[in-house]
Amino acid sequence: MREASRNTAAIARKFSDIALLKIVQPCSQSGIARSTRPYGDNSLSRFSPVAAALIAVAVFLLDTLTTFDIAIAVLYVVVVLLSLNFANQTQLVAIGAGCMGLTLLSFLLSHGLELPAESIGRCFVSLAATGITTFLAFRVKAAIGILEDSEQRYRSIFLATGVGILQMDFTGLKTAIDKYKTDGVQSIEDIENLDSGFVRKALRSIKLINANNTALNMFNMPDIDRLGTLLPALVSSEVERKVWNFLASIWAGNHSYEAETVIRTSQGRQLIFLYNVAVPPDRPTLDMVLISIMDVTARREAENELDVARSQLAHVTRIATLGELTVSIAHELNQPLAAVVTNGGAGLRWLRRDVPDLKKVESSIEGMVADATRASEVIKHLRGLSVKSSPNPVNVNLNEVAEETVALLQREIDVNQVTSRFDLADHLPEIHGDRVQLQQVVLNLILNAIQAMAHAPGGRRELLVKSLSEEAAVVLRIQDTGPGIPPEVRDRLFDPFYTTKPDGMGMGLSICRSILTAHGGSINATSEPGAGTTFEVTIPFNKEVG
Ligand code: ADP
Repeated sequence: MREASRNTAAIARKFSDIALLKIVQPCSQSGIARSTRPYGDNSLSRFSPVAAALIAVAVFLLDTLTTFDIAIAVLYVVVVLLSLNFANQTQLVAIGAGCMGLTLLSFLLSHGLELPAESIGRCFVSLAATGITTFLAFRVKAAIGILEDSEQRYRSIFLATGVGILQMDFTGLKTAIDKYKTDGVQSIEDIENLDSGFVRKALRSIKLINANNTALNMFNMPDIDRLGTLLPALVSSEVERKVWNFLASIWAGNHSYEAETVIRTSQGRQLIFLYNVAVPPDRPTLDMVLISIMDVTARREAENELDVARSQLAHVTRIATLGELTVSIAHELNQPLAAVVTNGGAGLRWLRRDVPDLKKVESSIEGMVADATRASEVIKHLRGLSVKSSPNPVNVNLNEVAEETVALLQREIDVNQVTSRFDLADHLPEIHGDRVQLQQVVLNLILNAIQAMAHAPGGRRELLVKSLSEEAAVVLRIQDTGPGIPPEVRDRLFDPFYTTKPDGMGMGLSICRSILTAHGGSINATSEPGAGTTFEVTIPFNKEVG
């Protein structure tokens, strides 16, 4: 798409050139796809040869038959200029030469062999004016020829390219945004707060000027006018958030904006479009904006199928892992537990004797304590296994870890229509830790946040990743606008195997806490039901990983 956006920018620049050409040559057609005739081939140019011939005859008669003291032959320049509409370069030279010949002929016919100095002067002025005009007309014609070739080339690209291209006029939208700016509104978010219906008005204000065939086929529309009328309705209310993002880009004065969006066609088909909006830098009023579109529905569907297959596989693997884990826990714990039972039974038997043997009871209880301690060691060991066993401590910048992780999860973020935002501290001190383990922590927290928001119907889906440095530690906050954590879940949040998700394993937060404890840090959650959740990770700097 970066390639496509470069092409769009080139085409956008070309469109500007062509618009310039239309000022030089106002008789030509407007719009590229709609234009099928070459420049100059229009009603005016059809009458131009007749008009030019009539003017030439009139000038000749006036020049020959009247005795005005003015250089009437200068009017031949009108004939040459009119010829620009129909003659090619050779014909222009011939017409110019013809006019100069007629000037000389009139001079000879009206003065014979008398050659008064004033008349010679007037004749010379007329010849010079006609000659210079012919030369300039010749140059203009050559320039027009080059631009015509160029337009032809770009028209072919425009029509034949596999990317859908829409040429739009955003003047109304730009005026509305500028008005808000003049009224002192500070940002697009402020407009959103003042007028939530602004997006719809914005969509209605933009005009479709032109579209290539690929675009028409993509939207399944018979012609440009129908597409122009239906375009605002194709943007469903679910994707309005994307439009706000786009408006923020316009507000910031950016010349390019790229995003993916879901469009529902008039036949009800849901399509995923990757689009790029290019604003030529020399069109500040946004009267010509080019949108290039690629239909990535098939590609995304294939990716989704792959995702489903992958998550099914992950689920199966999790169940298998859980099964294995259960077997190994059972196996490891069985032995000390069996010993506890045996020692307990023996102790009871010594106690129930007619004369209890307290020495033996004591040793049985000591055995039980030792076995129970062994069982607890086993549990600790198993927990240790779930965290990568050999930490690889390096200097880590948590900002980088956060940015990398968000980039890694960008698809999840887009698919779930979440807007991600960073508020990262400048010059954040580095911490000493295991980069992969810390990435595992951030990944788990962001995934949980996305999943929490994805399952909350309606509402804003915003993920904020914030970092800051405190006296001796760095802090990373992952904040979501999900449903929050209910009180009954709060107390069990970090318990191993505690999950509220149908396919969850409940190990994520428990592992996060183990990793952070190993880094000398901590994790805690603050949440208000209905108002989102914030997980806060604190890691001291200058601390070795344990
Ligand atoms: P899992 O994701 O497999 O359920 P975790 O240990 O990562 O395991 O999470 C445990 C539980 O904590 C989740 O099932 C969910 O109920 C709750 N939880 C975690 N993060 C959030 C969040 N951002 N918002 C709401 N609930 C959350």
